[in-house]
Amino acid sequence: MRDKIVAGNWKMHKTLEEGKILASEVVNIVTDEVNSDAKVILGTPFVHLDSVSKLIKDSANVFIAAQNCSEHEQGAYTGEISAAMLASMGVDYVILGHSERREYFNESNEQLAAKVDKVYEHGMIPIFCCGEALDIREAGTEVDFVCQQLTESIFHLSNEQFEKIVIAYEPIWAIGTGRTASSEQAQEMHDAIRKHLASKYGQEIADKVSILYGGSCKPSNAKEIFAGKDVDGGLIGGASLVARDFVDIVK
Ligand code: PGA
Repeated sequence: MRDKIVAGNWKMHKTLEEGKILASEVVNIVTDEVNSDAKVILGTPFVHLDSVSKLIKDSANVFIAAQNCSEHEQGAYTGEISAAMLASMGVDYVILGHSERREYFNESNEQLAAKVDKVYEHGMIPIFCCGEALDIREAGTEVDFVCQQLTESIFHLSNEQFEKIVIAYEPIWAIGTGRTASSEQAQEMHDAIRKHLASKYGQEIADKVSILYGGSCKPSNAKEIFAGKDVDGGLIGGASLVARDFVDIVK
């Protein structure tokens, strides 16, 4: 009913040459070994997008994502990259609202709402990240916190836009820490997110939205975490940097 997706988030890793090697390896192993209809997305640094989009062009189930874009259309924003530029390079998806961008670059829910709009305006699809820090989980307010992130950044979208969005739930305490959410914790949050989407857009649209889990996913734990009925795949950081591990997660 909805897409199964495994997206890699390379973050700020790999030179251009290293990135081309990694992308080719992923494409080769996916071609040889993956016969499901799962979508595989490579979230590369900006400078890799052009080369990687050429490397994946013959693979029907491999796509590329950028890791951010500007909320502005164009202009005097030195160092920024616009959604129009990404679309012109053949980018399919844009990861938005990763907790590292929220924390280190002060991205707010409001600013992210504007970035989400730019991504749709240029015909791409956001992979919208949400997730709580450890203190919020310990206070037991994680569902309210995550729902508020979604309300403030994506609940202005039309039904047609909304049913295409991909959401990634990434508890901050599980990112790069080796500590994952248990499969119960992931399913519980994904269920709460889907109910929240349904409260605004109705069950039929909520059921079309793929919700990915992210945070220390590895080949050894992916199967268990992805087993939850509302867990539609993963957003993979560290383990997406090794082709074998990444494709094992896809499998
Ligand atoms: P991790 O990162 O898999 O290295 O924990 C996930 C992410 O930040 O997207």
